[in-house]
Amino acid sequence: MSGSSDSSPVAGPLGDLDPDTFRRYGHHVVDWIADFLRHPERFPVLARVKPGDVREALPLAAPRDPESLDAILADFERVIVPGLTHWNHPGFFAYFAITGSAPGILGELLCAALNVNAMLWRTSPAATELEEVVLDWLRRLLALPPGFRGVIYDTASISSLCALAAAREAAGVDAREAGLAGRSDLPRLRVYASDQAHSSIEKAAIILGLGQAGVRKIPADAEFRMDAEALARAVAEDRAGGWRPIAVSATVGTTATTSVDPVPAIAEVATREGLWLHVDAAYGGAAAILPEYRHVLAGCERADSIVVNPHKWLFTPIDCSAFFCRRPEILKQAFSLVPTFLQTPEGSAVENFMDYGPQLGRRFRALKLWMVLRAYGRTGLEARLREHIRLGQLFAGWVDGDPDWERLAPVPFSTVVFRLRPHGWDTADPRLNPLNERLLEGVNASGEVFLSHAVLAGRYALRLAVGNIRTEEQHVARAWEILRGEALRLGATAPVVAEDD
Ligand code: PLP
Repeated sequence: MSGSSDSSPVAGPLGDLDPDTFRRYGHHVVDWIADFLRHPERFPVLARVKPGDVREALPLAAPRDPESLDAILADFERVIVPGLTHWNHPGFFAYFAITGSAPGILGELLCAALNVNAMLWRTSPAATELEEVVLDWLRRLLALPPGFRGVIYDTASISSLCALAAAREAAGVDAREAGLAGRSDLPRLRVYASDQAHSSIEKAAIILGLGQAGVRKIPADAEFRMDAEALARAVAEDRAGGWRPIAVSATVGTTATTSVDPVPAIAEVATREGLWLHVDAAYGGAAAILPEYRHVLAGCERADSIVVNPHKWLFTPIDCSAFFCRRPEILKQAFSLVPTFLQTPEGSAVENFMDYGPQLGRRFRALKLWMVLRAYGRTGLEARLREHIRLGQLFAGWVDGDPDWERLAPVPFSTVVFRLRPHGWDTADPRLNPLNERLLEGVNASGEVFLSHAVLAGRYALRLAVGNIRTEEQHVARAWEILRGEALRLGATAPVVAEDD
């Protein structure tokens, strides 16, 4: 990114860059971004550096004197870029593929320029009111009922933490004032989630003083969905054993296989037992924008809270997690603590979002989400989600059609969980896990695609998650070609593969 010929320090002894210098470098940076977005695949998707390479290329201490932006941007290209794993690359199929879309990037740029802190309504009325409006737009897109009120957090992990903090508040155990430690007047509190739930639920329990033992994992069925009857039995057993059940977290789109828990049946149990029902739809929720996928949020109208991450499958740059709560007054009760210096004359006429979470300072994340939702519109979002699902299903079909490969889970969305099982190998063959591990390493070394793994009932599985806006059929086809090529290459040392190919 060599830009201007200006090699002198860009800042004087005081003040910021002058606006003309900013403009010049701003244009260079935006040009760099535009070139990057046009051809992200000119970089290897998975960084090729070794541990410590980046650190060693950087000085031990910050510079004593100002450095030129030319020098800084040159080092960005020389040192930083090679050390990046490119999440905005069309061959990124690992974890959940995400997108920093162009409208979202522009939103981030403006957000940084304004540097608004959306803690109180008066610290930027537009930030608060846009957050209210844009989350109501998202609620409507997801066909959630009007009773849900939204707030934006950074991540689903924090959204679920806030959900469980609200659940603890709703349980009326006075944790806010008295804490939980040393309470002889209280039974142990229990939260339920399936054995496929994301680790953020356990982390939340750790932070909230429930402890990991306070999370009871409900077994999933053969398709990795929570068994609602097992949930009901566990709650009854816990009550009999002196626990106090307070909440259940269902998942729509689990991390490993994207399975969808039976939320309507779980909601029945939650209502009957007086549990807070939280739904972690961080990944899968976005699909409900499609009329034909609305069913994935069935039962969620009865949830107390639900999280959907626009930074996962809604083309919004990380971070942006949309949290919807049907009992916002409880959430506020859990978190609101207003020192005198933060009191404002608007009173209850406005919302102050600092009242709905642990943070005081809050980024103006609504801006980028607003820009993404407007720039694509409902039809544009639908088309892109539909295409990702089509690509996932296409890939699943290729796996299903090849006798050397097997799918290890249903494909409700755009993520395929599969493994190489050479024709004739037993499903329990102990060579399968190391074979698939080596396969994944080989495939990821290509630099063209990046896949991740999951372990399902002891079986090492590969995951191909379609979710980047720039991923096209050619990229998915290339991933399949690389996978099969690598399987063949491994066949040189594993004759059964070669024989059967
Ligand atoms: N919930 C589910 C189902 C996830 O798959 C993930 C991450 O992949 C999370 C929560 C955590 O998301 P975040 O990174 O936004 O905390």
